[in-house]
Amino acid sequence: MDTIYLDAPNLGELEKQYLLKCVDSTFVSTAGPFIPEFEAKFADYIGTKRAISTQSGTAAIHLALHELGIGPGDEVIVPVITFIASVNPITYVGATPVFVDIDPSSWNMDPEKVEKAITKNTKAILPVHIYGNPCDMAAITEISERHGIPIIEDATESLGASVHGRKTGTFGSMACFSFNGNKIITTGGGGMITTNDEKLADHMKFLVNQARDESKGYYHPEIGFNYRMTNLEASLGLAQFERLPEFLQKKKRYSEIYREILTGVKEIEFQEEYPDSISSWWLSSIKINHPTKDIPQIQKELKEKAIPTRRIFVPITEFPPYEKYKKEEYPNSYELYEKGLNLPSSTLNSEELVEFVARSIVDVIEA
Ligand SMILES: *Cc1c(COP(=O)(O)O)cnc(C)c1O
Repeated sequence: MDTIYLDAPNLGELEKQYLLKCVDSTFVSTAGPFIPEFEAKFADYIGTKRAISTQSGTAAIHLALHELGIGPGDEVIVPVITFIASVNPITYVGATPVFVDIDPSSWNMDPEKVEKAITKNTKAILPVHIYGNPCDMAAITEISERHGIPIIEDATESLGASVHGRKTGTFGSMACFSFNGNKIITTGGGGMITTNDEKLADHMKFLVNQARDESKGYYHPEIGFNYRMTNLEASLGLAQFERLPEFLQKKKRYSEIYREILTGVKEIEFQEEYPDSISSWWLSSIKINHPTKDIPQIQKELKEKAIPTRRIFVPITEFPPYEKYKKEEYPNSYELYEKGLNLPSSTLNSEELVEFVARSIVDVIEA
């Protein structure tokens, strides 16, 4: 049987071709034509005026927070179930993350809890479209507008997802994407910020380049970052980007296969999309309410069949830098962590392998 992959990247001839073209051009670093081409195509696809490439998704989130002038004394509202990189950048700028619990059906930040978490110090709301599933952006946008608090979307897992026909990445004053190796498309490592605000875009483009005023040579009127994507990464990104429709179609198909085979297994719940939302299905995931087997046990039995799985992100409040928060305030997040499981979703897997995985899950649960 072929290897089953959880989230391995899918790289082929096109990637080799573009990378070779880049190497042959000698423009492998932060100058070169692939970078503006990737940014332009990305902005066009998402539906924003601009896209600014970065060194990683983490750098993108840091830069977005910095660009909004968020700093010490400020608060940023963020879900407690997410990857650590949604939260650490809030700490980098000296601000305080304010965690909110998730909605048990979508697994995303609960808008009602967001509203309750707002204080006079709240400077941004940072929704994370977890595992590719869009947040309730109608509700979050309404709250954001009513309170005059900007949104920074963490769209690192949701490239291609949409809400009411609008792509994730268009709702915030800025949105952040990641091209890490396990994301929907990869540049090896990299990120992107999308925005409709030309002024913010120009300023971020300047900040990522050490805040260098090129008209004056090596002159730096403010403190910047070296957060640029390389041309080499952008060449890989352009090849992957051409294949995005194929990847999204496959991931959607996997989610359908899991649902077809696992529907009716009474122990299983699915991550649900909001009405008129379309997930990127970055990672197909389920919740298992088993009377005797816990998630590590189920993972162990699946591993014996060569099926890789991953637990849901550990609630951020479990980590020493963030442990002062009251865990009792996040019951849905903790329950999801106890019972949730990410399933093999790499586009390298054949549909037959995904069917095998789904049937194996039934066997393990019913055994
Ligand atoms: C991957 C990811 C990031 C960070 O992206 P990197 O490119 O790995 O720095 C941020 N937030 C979430 C939710 C992610 O999954």
